[in-house]
Amino acid sequence: MPVTIKGFIETSLIEWEGMLASILFLPGCNFRCSYCHSPHLVYSSEDMETIPLEAIMESLRKRRGWIDGVVISGGEPTLQKGLKGLIRQLKALGLKVKLDTNGSNPAVLAELLEEGLLDCIAMDVKAPLREEEYGKAAGGPCDVGALRRSIRIILQSGIEHEFRTTVCPGLLAEDGIGEIARDVRGTKRYVLQSFRPNNCLDPDMLEVKPYPAETLKKFKEIVQYHLGHCSIRGEPSS
Ligand code: SF4
Repeated sequence: MPVTIKGFIETSLIEWEGMLASILFLPGCNFRCSYCHSPHLVYSSEDMETIPLEAIMESLRKRRGWIDGVVISGGEPTLQKGLKGLIRQLKALGLKVKLDTNGSNPAVLAELLEEGLLDCIAMDVKAPLREEEYGKAAGGPCDVGALRRSIRIILQSGIEHEFRTTVCPGLLAEDGIGEIARDVRGTKRYVLQSFRPNNCLDPDMLEVKPYPAETLKKFKEIVQYHLGHCSIRGEPSS
């Protein structure tokens, strides 16, 4: 089954902590988060050039030995039937693989983990795991049972992982933060990401002002109370 790839960054130091990695972007997503920074991959990927897999593999082959691995991002990569085949090819080059996911497809995660194809998973947890609240954050109805299963599978996998939440005024407030932290209890890495009002899927979000640094710090303390740790990514300067 072929895989469609719409973006390729040859090297990055910021997508996988402590690793020099190439990044692949796979199009399509089953969510419509208003703050999504990849609307082109969600809505209009057919207007984007598809990058031939062979060209990517050739580039990766050349970089073997000095990149540590490949991050597969999107969009939502688990929607593509060719994902497993792609990862097998990457592993055959001796590369480690990190998967970014919205967690909506636990069966795919379980299958990939069972075959030992993943070295790291990063899952977004966008809101407390209740239908209404999650649907608001994800821009449509969500199967929160599936999200819970993904969290459980990731926690039990024993591989490096990260849960992360974009904190956006109007979508997530203080009371939701503690609930999310309880939902991922047992994780060794949890990251709060500040909302950035640029290139958003919903243009109205460009008018939303991110939480100030002191509010993020308060959210961090709430998470630390439940998990004993928490990082902030993209902290605003004031
Ligand atoms: S932010 Fe939301 S809409 Fe955008 S790719 Fe991720 S899950 Fe899909």
